[in-house]
Amino acid sequence: MQTVPQGGTIGILGGGQLGRMLAMAAAQLGYRCIGYAPEGDNVAAPLCADFFTNDWDDRPALAAFAQKCDVITWEFENVPVDTVKALPPGRVPCGYRALEVAQDRMAEKNFVAGLGGCPAPHAAVHSADDIVQAADRIGTPAILKTCRDGYDGKGQWRIDSARDLAGLPAPAQPCVYEGFVRFDAEFSVILARGQDGEIRFWDSPLNEHEGGILARSTLPAPGHVEAHVEAARDLARQVADALHYVGVLTLEFFATAEGPVFNEMAPRVHNSGHWSIEGAATSQFENHIRAICGLPLGDTATVGSVEMRNLIGKETQAAFSLLADPANHLHLYGKAAMRDGRKMGHVTRVTRT
Ligand code: AMP
Repeated sequence: MQTVPQGGTIGILGGGQLGRMLAMAAAQLGYRCIGYAPEGDNVAAPLCADFFTNDWDDRPALAAFAQKCDVITWEFENVPVDTVKALPPGRVPCGYRALEVAQDRMAEKNFVAGLGGCPAPHAAVHSADDIVQAADRIGTPAILKTCRDGYDGKGQWRIDSARDLAGLPAPAQPCVYEGFVRFDAEFSVILARGQDGEIRFWDSPLNEHEGGILARSTLPAPGHVEAHVEAARDLARQVADALHYVGVLTLEFFATAEGPVFNEMAPRVHNSGHWSIEGAATSQFENHIRAICGLPLGDTATVGSVEMRNLIGKETQAAFSLLADPANHLHLYGKAAMRDGRKMGHVTRVTRT
């Protein structure tokens, strides 16, 4: 890969809020973005110079899209791997291996465990019998998760006791049975890896979820999270290196008395890094653009105490009232429809130190 020249064009697969914020960061560096996503509420589109609304398997459209781009990335980790494979490989610095691993919970856990990471106790399940055997071995409480396409707690079923097993239907798709981790806290490691292999970490936020959806990220994280960050970073570095990854990569962890337990990874900019727009010297969005364009990475230092809160569903109705506090930075994603559980925006409060 070479440096994308000034005024160059970045292709973004996916049309959500992450693409929207990537396009804003790209514009600051003088780049233009072209988006590509199937029909939907593509809130990145108004921020892109051009936007292809086509299916993931539309080869002629993908070829026309690629032809206009100097470099291509994604903001959505469920872009089919075949879509990425259909693009000129020299234009996709992140490669498709990271997507392949992150799209399948079993593949992801095996990959990370192979590098010495510690995922929650788990078993692959394909049938009702498998679930009973997994419950026997791993116990309850547990969570049954679809291997693919789950996000924000979707495609997950909580199993509180063996009695719940009787009510479960046979899985319609491959799933993973995961022992419930009694964690002290959740946190993420967010890193950017440049084309030359240089890695920079942001400070790790404490992440609090409600109903399986990220509600809040706070920094500095408390001591019982900080104590695990070094080990979690070591693992994240190995994952990024092993995948020859370029760009922002996020690993989510549970902090437990036994050490950091790996939950999942996202080969993309991540909700738990949104705070970095105002809370860090360089945001995750800018460093992702720098990395894929072959530019030096920016300083990731935190500038103060930070709280990022997601505005989910109706929480967005009174969003402008948040501006009464001058320390708040409001981000609205411009989504057409408000739905329960839908991320509509976020607010970051920074107290500079
Ligand atoms: P996930 O989509 O796997 O990241 O799950 C969403 C959220 O559900 C996590 O951030 C946790 O709050 C909770 N969760 C998921 N898996 C587990 C687990 N094995 N033990 C405890 N909590 C979990």
